[in-house]
Amino acid sequence: MAYDFDLFVIGAGSGGVRAARFAAGFGAKVAVAESRYLGGTCVNVGCVPKKLLVYGAHVADELEQAAGFGWTLEEGHFDWGTLIANKNREIERLNGIYRNLLVNSGVNLLQGHARMTGTHEVEVEGQRYSAEHILIATGGWPQVPDIPGKELAITSNEAFYLKDLPRRVLVVGGGYIAVEFAGIFQGLGADTTLLYRGDLFLRGFDGSVRTHLKEELEKRGLNLQFNADIQRIDKLEDGSLKATLKDGRELLTDCVFYATGRRPMLDNLGLENTGVELDPRGYIRVDEQYQTTEPSVLAIGDVIGRVQLTPVALAEGMAVARRLFKPEQYRPVDYQNIPTAVFSQPPIGTVGLTEEQALAAGHKVQIFESRFRAMKLTLTDIQEKTLMKLVVDAETDKVLGCHMVGPDAGEIIQGLGIALKAGATKQQFDETIGVHPTAAEEFVTLRTATR
Ligand code: FAD
Ligand code: NDP
Repeated sequence: MAYDFDLFVIGAGSGGVRAARFAAGFGAKVAVAESRYLGGTCVNVGCVPKKLLVYGAHVADELEQAAGFGWTLEEGHFDWGTLIANKNREIERLNGIYRNLLVNSGVNLLQGHARMTGTHEVEVEGQRYSAEHILIATGGWPQVPDIPGKELAITSNEAFYLKDLPRRVLVVGGGYIAVEFAGIFQGLGADTTLLYRGDLFLRGFDGSVRTHLKEELEKRGLNLQFNADIQRIDKLEDGSLKATLKDGRELLTDCVFYATGRRPMLDNLGLENTGVELDPRGYIRVDEQYQTTEPSVLAIGDVIGRVQLTPVALAEGMAVARRLFKPEQYRPVDYQNIPTAVFSQPPIGTVGLTEEQALAAGHKVQIFESRFRAMKLTLTDIQEKTLMKLVVDAETDKVLGCHMVGPDAGEIIQGLGIALKAGATKQQFDETIGVHPTAAEEFVTLRTATR
């Protein structure tokens, strides 16, 4: 049977754009439908605008450090509106780049919500298209617990478009987004409190990293409240918000920001017209090659709920394009040793196993850990410490994990990701000549095991 398209991609985000472009490049006839914004979450309400706001907040650090280097500055003034307007301009530029990337690679770009009307059919704006393969790359959406007053709270989606910087902010959650936005709000001058329901935030990260970041954030004056959760939110007559916690405490604020995870975006997708099944967590169930339980339908990215990171969605999109249209180049995505950064202030960079994971996996581990004051701070009064940690297999000498909290952690950890992928041993780390004077050289001069 002749189809309108070889591949119909639903969602022009990180994964969808990558799959569509490469499939078209391999000679396939491809369409991609996008209902909201080109580039998806990452470009519009995720990685990119977030990092721009992090840079904005980081300027406060630079200003604080300036005096130590002999600079006298007039009292600074920050204008949220300017930062948001400049950020919006950059996002619009990127939207245009994504449009060109798709159109120039021969992809048919359809604007509108896509709904599957059959196993080989998608409807967009009343028009039906047939396709041999359909790829679901619809991403995720913020999830707010169902509490009274939840409509008074905002999520990351709205935070990027706030008219003004709130004077007081309550951030709820203890994952990537909560920690990053707490740093943004606080760095830009809002009186910020982070509420997390458990004992210590960033569950799943290395224990030393979690404790170190907690201490550093507290040094910066961030109000961290653990074992704390909101029961209800009420709006007061003066426009401010009252958050009543489960333990009965009442906190007054101007903004409640929820970052309590993301659900897969499956709204009105027409899954019921196909045999696509969900896994027990509600994400689309796929096999190792991103095939759903419906033979003609594939799914990648946040909607499958594996690793919710842009480079992972990109790799999955590439794998699908190759598998379908260039099988001789197909390589499975390697989910081991994915480097990642949390752009908190200071940031976290991490790759490989945490100490806890290594022990749970039965490794006999040696831990190399160092805490030091970065050279840049020695001319200032700032007492921030950098943490670097290696988790090493005591029997094979292989480095199992590298973890850092400190300036440029994300930049530094990328290279260590390559080392771990190549199976580097601690001896090879030791034999690598450092770059002096940098913080990064500490990773190749950690001589004595701390545990
Ligand atoms: P998305 O990028 O979400 O794209 C899905 C697209 O599908 C969207 O454009 C949506 O409008 C469209 N769509 C949905 N349903 C339909 C439909 N029915 N019809 C048509 N179109 C539809 N990751 C990192 O690696 N580094 C970071 O620093 C980082 N920061 C982040 C910060 C925030 C605040 C958030 C929320 C996420 C961040 N992420 C980060 C995660 C990253 O954004 C996601 O992992 C990535 O965007 C997932 O890509 P995707 O292709 O699966 O989905
Ligand atoms: P995460 O899953 O990372 O964190 C969710 C947090 O909310 C956890 O601390 C969780 O607690 C808490 N939580 C969940 N449900 C509730 C609830 N009902 N009440 C109170 N607290 C709750 O989600 P995020 O929203 O922070 O981010 C989504 C994903 O996006 C990330 O996992 C990451 O993959 C990606 N991302 C990546 C970034 C990067 O690469 N720098 C930046 C931002 C996002 P508990 O641990 O107890 O379950």
